[in-house]
Amino acid sequence: MKCPVCETSTFAHKDLEQGLHALTCTVCGGNWINSFQYWLWKEKHPENLPEKESCITLQTSDVITTKICPECNKILSRYHVGHGISFTIDRCEQCRGIWFDANEWEVLHDKNLHDEIHFIFSNHWQKAARDEQMETNREKNLMRMIGAENMPRVKEFKNWLKNQKEHSTIIAFLSN
Ligand SMILES: [Zn+2]
Ligand SMILES: [Zn+2]
Repeated sequence: MKCPVCETSTFAHKDLEQGLHALTCTVCGGNWINSFQYWLWKEKHPENLPEKESCITLQTSDVITTKICPECNKILSRYHVGHGISFTIDRCEQCRGIWFDANEWEVLHDKNLHDEIHFIFSNHWQKAARDEQMETNREKNLMRMIGAENMPRVKEFKNWLKNQKEHSTIIAFLSN
């Protein structure tokens, strides 16, 4: 069994949560959760805690490289998390095992997203994450053009405009 990131074979057993067994790479700190182990834990902890704001500032590395499944040697697929999180997580489409780079599990836990990991792999979640990424990029581009100091006013105006019945009339007036 080889680590998808550093390709060493030095895994240690670790419980990420009570009853959630994982293998941790002792070199890079990444975690591998076998699909069966995930569902075993999920069955005993079916609750879906409400998402909350993150308050920890752990450094995540999000290693963007081709990763190989430690169990069946297939290439892992990358999935965007979204919800303000910039890193991706990796899953094997064959055995459905999940790879988390160092600290990614901890960050997801901090936002209470750790108990709905299986939803992240759905088309619905992935589309929302892509849309979020596009919106973030659009905002970044706009900020570059108009300056960071003007962004709060633009955003506030946008939110106000959204709720106006005559918003297209207002836009037409402004752009004239
Ligand atoms: Zn490693
Ligand atoms: Zn696999």
